Amino acid sequence: MVAHRTLGLRDPFFEITTPKNAKYKYFLFLIKQGDTMVKCYACGKRFESSEDFYRHAVEEHGSVENAIYEVEERKVTPEELNEILKDVDKLAGFIEAEYENGILRIKKLRGVTNLNYRIDVWNCTGTLLLKPDDDEDTVAIGYFRVPRRIYRPEIEKELEKFCWQVLEDRGGAINMSGIYYLDEEHVRKLRDIVGF
Ligand SMILES: [Zn+2]
Repeated sequence: MVAHRTLGLRDPFFEITTPKNAKYKYFLFLIKQGDTMVKCYACGKRFESSEDFYRHAVEEHGSVENAIYEVEERKVTPEELNEILKDVDKLAGFIEAEYENGILRIKKLRGVTNLNYRIDVWNCTGTLLLKPDDDEDTVAIGYFRVPRRIYRPEIEKELEKFCWQVLEDRGGAINMSGIYYLDEEHVRKLRDIVGF
């Protein structure tokens, strides 16, 4: 007997799409964005153009999808499965889960440290968020907004540069709406800037 479950999707670039659509759109997106640095989340290297990243991903990791997503496999009983599934969408980077012949395969977006640590891009404005209620009081910095509690005029330039870096690393842009999660390197960098 085969059980298959698709539990949901949290995609960095497009909020409501199927995994297949997300992949398809991401390919289009890579071709469009030719002039920014892109980070490979499988090995951490950065590339001058999306085309260079694309080539690297296929040659080094087998496919672009392998460089973006990771699949964790766990041997679990049906009882354990029910427990895991209760909280599976709280796993950082969770995309979908599949259960077949006692093996649970969890597909996750690489490089997500905490679902609260992200930049939400909407209407050409990116809002940096670190806590669920951080969007209630923000300060505008160029195309971005940051929580007032972390803002200081002397770090404004660094914060703005930081926000651009997060978007670039994910192959994104300010006119590409969606959620861009911070990776470990970003979190360290932000801690250096802000000291949170
Ligand atoms: Zn790589």
